[in-house]
Amino acid sequence: MPTAPLHTLDDGTALPALGLGTYPMDDAEAERAVAQAVAHGYRLVDSAANYRNEAGVGRGVLAAGVPREEIVVTTKLPGRDHGYEQTLRSFEQSRKRLGLDYVDLYLIHWPLPRVDAYVDSWRAMVKLREEGAVRSIGVSNFTAEHIDRLERETGVLPSVNQIEMHPLFPQAELRAALAAKGIAVESWSPLGRGSDLLEDRAVRAVARAHERTPAQVVLRWHVQSGAVPLPKSADPGRQRDNLAVFDFTLDEREMASIASHTPHRLGGDPRHHEEF
Ligand code: NDP
Repeated sequence: MPTAPLHTLDDGTALPALGLGTYPMDDAEAERAVAQAVAHGYRLVDSAANYRNEAGVGRGVLAAGVPREEIVVTTKLPGRDHGYEQTLRSFEQSRKRLGLDYVDLYLIHWPLPRVDAYVDSWRAMVKLREEGAVRSIGVSNFTAEHIDRLERETGVLPSVNQIEMHPLFPQAELRAALAAKGIAVESWSPLGRGSDLLEDRAVRAVARAHERTPAQVVLRWHVQSGAVPLPKSADPGRQRDNLAVFDFTLDEREMASIASHTPHRLGGDPRHHEEF
């Protein structure tokens, strides 16, 4: 059974090199999909208060028959709960819904610059980590400027930034800025959900050359780019395929051909996007 190799975060904890996305699964689907994914070798699961599936994700983790400490469970703070006290309260609600003693990775879901409370939320995340309620803390959809501000005002850097990233939007500049600060990158919509990336001629040519699926070569592109992709699927065959990307290598030409589009986002721009 393949499992993903591990990265080490700046706080010393381990982060598997590939994880399971769970949006938009509901509780029942998430419970099944997570338990099945863990049985296939997944050890990293992504959720969020706003996905409304934390209860299912938690049940799936506990039902999986693998020691709890082997699984990295992620959830995220919703925009409506930004602020110091609000973050502490919101975390407690997430933990209760998950039904877990601790959360492995807790992220601020979006920066919401207009609300301008992400620094207060960050101070609360630091406290949660100090208390042991959370193993690792990070952010999602933060630009380099948002992260600079966290560093300036709190002195604490996130261990992870989960960002939109796929061959149509490779995020080279932001990734370089994060790497310089030792911040790990997770990629959301790694398969380019809502686009025709998996039909792309260059992607299909590389897939044929390696006798792999288009999804596998795209996920391999993430791994070799140093990012941790979080492909979403509840389908057992696709879950297995998506994890089986650690036994082949793309060369430089293939890496470049997969990501040769004019970069464009599929999701919201963090400088303006609001999600509560
Ligand atoms: P993905 O790029 O993971 O694409 C998911 C789609 O790809 C689904 O339709 C799925 O279909 C299909 N798919 C999965 N595997 C394969 C395969 N092997 N071959 C062909 N098709 C496949 O997009 P998401 O937007 O779901 O992103 C992944 C995760 O990232 C989310 O689930 C969520 O956890 C996280 N996320 C975080 C955000 C944030 O703001 N932090 C924003 C958006 C997502 P099927 O399900 O039928 O298998």
